[in-house]
Amino acid sequence: MSGHPLPVTDVTVTGRPDRAWVDEAVRRLQADANRSADTHLIAVPLPAGWEVDLYLKDESTHPTGSLKHRLARSLFLYALCNGAIGPDTTVIEASSGSTAVSEAYFARMLGLPFIAVMARSTTPEKIALIEREGGRCHLVEHSGEVYDVARRLAEEKGGVYLDQFTHAERATDWRGNNNIAESIYAQMALERHPVPEWVVVGAGTGGTSATIGRYVRLKGHRSRLCVVDPEGSAFLPGYADREAPTLHGSRIEGIGRTRVEPSFIPGVVDRMIGVPDAASIAAMHHLKEQTGLDAGASTGTNLYAALRLACEMRAEGVKGSVVTLLCDPGRRYAETYGDPAWVGTQGWDLAPYQEVLTRAWRDGIWTG
Ligand SMILES: *Cc1c(COP(=O)(O)O)cnc(C)c1O
Repeated sequence: MSGHPLPVTDVTVTGRPDRAWVDEAVRRLQADANRSADTHLIAVPLPAGWEVDLYLKDESTHPTGSLKHRLARSLFLYALCNGAIGPDTTVIEASSGSTAVSEAYFARMLGLPFIAVMARSTTPEKIALIEREGGRCHLVEHSGEVYDVARRLAEEKGGVYLDQFTHAERATDWRGNNNIAESIYAQMALERHPVPEWVVVGAGTGGTSATIGRYVRLKGHRSRLCVVDPEGSAFLPGYADREAPTLHGSRIEGIGRTRVEPSFIPGVVDRMIGVPDAASIAAMHHLKEQTGLDAGASTGTNLYAALRLACEMRAEGVKGSVVTLLCDPGRRYAETYGDPAWVGTQGWDLAPYQEVLTRAWRDGIWTG
């Protein structure tokens, strides 16, 4: 016998999640999508002579009430198909709220325990929604701690940390498969300006902007992607290649982060617009007063910039459409952004922005 070990040629690793269980889990997730007739693209009426059309993709109508329904399903499918989730896996996420609501829903669908690691400042409404879906909330003092705490909890419990901020851009099938971009372009097909001049979105993970920006390039559409960013966020200074000032963190739930998240892909973004927090709140209220549509604050951020772009198009004599997102419903924020007394305690003065919005909406002139 020579001293050489025999070559290993045939290996089966045991302990991987049972294939039959994974197949059933994937079927359940895909059935959830299959039951959906997609979210509406709402035409927002602007004055008739404008030749600029505005649309809101209403992501509040998903079963878990926000665009994070898409992301949560994609993250679960990604982890399941990677063999990372089995029938006894505890699923853990770092979240500012909405993602955890959607993930708790899918965890329950698969019979898995779910823990959301969130800042203590998360609204009671969101915590209640997560708990209603059977999830547990692990609260930490500072939002910057959520990543490490989630990773540590996953190690301790032998669970999986879904890590939306890293995986959003890769878990989503950006080429098609009825992702948000493919859905928007299909729903625009019969409009008078079917290819949007601008698509306007915020960035939390950055996943939505990555999906839309890549899709637009893949299909050769001339649409440009504008990402909006609230005060205190690192995305815009990072994009501008500028040193960020001291960041206190975003006060617009769902968007803006104190670090540039790995899922934010700056190469697909054509322009970024910073929106003052008070402007976002004013725009959220403006939308409700003018159209009856009840949306959260990040939708206000979107609308404020979308109206600015619409006014720019008018000033330049460009005809076309602007598409943005209605990200989640305003009722989630009835006791915060929706409550004038609470808004007052934040030191936000909405009046100047209300004036800008009124002028833009009525005359198509941007004075911001
Ligand atoms: C997450 C979120 C966004 C931003 O979406 P990303 O794809 O994570 O960048 C916007 N609005 C709300 C309410 C959100 O929860």
